[in-house]
Amino acid sequence: MPVTFIESHYCLLHDMGDDHPESPDRLHSISDQLIASGLELALQYQDAPPASLAQLKRAHNDDFVDSLVAKSPKEGKVQLDDDTFMMPHSLNAALHAAGAGVQAVDTVMKEQSLAAFCSVRPPGHHANASASSGFCLFNNIAVAVCHALEQYQLKRVAIIDFDVHHGNGTEDIFKHDDRVMMFSSFQHPFYPFSGDEHTNTNSVNIPLNAGIKGEEYRSMVSPWFDTLNTFKPEMVFISAGFDAHREDELAHVMLTEADFEWLTQKIKAIADEHCNGRIVSMLEGGYALSALGRSVVAHLKALL
Ligand SMILES: [Zn+2]
Repeated sequence: MPVTFIESHYCLLHDMGDDHPESPDRLHSISDQLIASGLELALQYQDAPPASLAQLKRAHNDDFVDSLVAKSPKEGKVQLDDDTFMMPHSLNAALHAAGAGVQAVDTVMKEQSLAAFCSVRPPGHHANASASSGFCLFNNIAVAVCHALEQYQLKRVAIIDFDVHHGNGTEDIFKHDDRVMMFSSFQHPFYPFSGDEHTNTNSVNIPLNAGIKGEEYRSMVSPWFDTLNTFKPEMVFISAGFDAHREDELAHVMLTEADFEWLTQKIKAIADEHCNGRIVSMLEGGYALSALGRSVVAHLKALL
């Protein structure tokens, strides 16, 4: 079965300004590298629908969702935190980014595809139940996981977040939900300065020192796979951020495409063993444009 690539032109319209690293060019770079690699021909393409408010409210507080929708500006911009803004198209982009994850779950659960990758923005993993932050409006992966838990009654799902920043919003949303086990590796101490407290029994965090290279990274995250084999997930979700790439200047971890390919292969082996290969992967960070495109190609090659 093919791998499905889910996108939306609305995600290209959210633009926080020329000097903001979370730019529409990120998605163009991914598309360009897919074409250049020839991988484009191996994928099945889908357009993302918008998430419904009810789908968003499974992961977020009702008041937060309603207030974010109400804040959407007709012109100009609304500031949500130091570096997160809503412009006239941002709400639509965020709705379609979250909707991509919901559709990815449906596509994989209905066996129309083995795995699905959502090439969407804004990213999501810093948004918690009641707040947007760190470039994230809604928590896309959390909305997708909630859809899998509620619509398909799954009992055990794993989230692997290899973005260079701690997936603090996702961890917070699921901290009391034993159906979810979360794995996050992240540079520390670094934005958002969380994840080393080890307070949640269903999260396995690996803080990374600045400057760490691929070989050491691989040995540090290897214990995840023993835990995953014991947990036996019924579906595997990936918060796929590629800002731990050595060319990415937003952080200081020195991974390469080969490391992302290795990690994806390890995750795929878990999914193949325990859940018929069911994987939903959602783009999070990754701001060095060429490295981002090449890394997504490596990630998708490993999923295929
Ligand atoms: Zn990040």
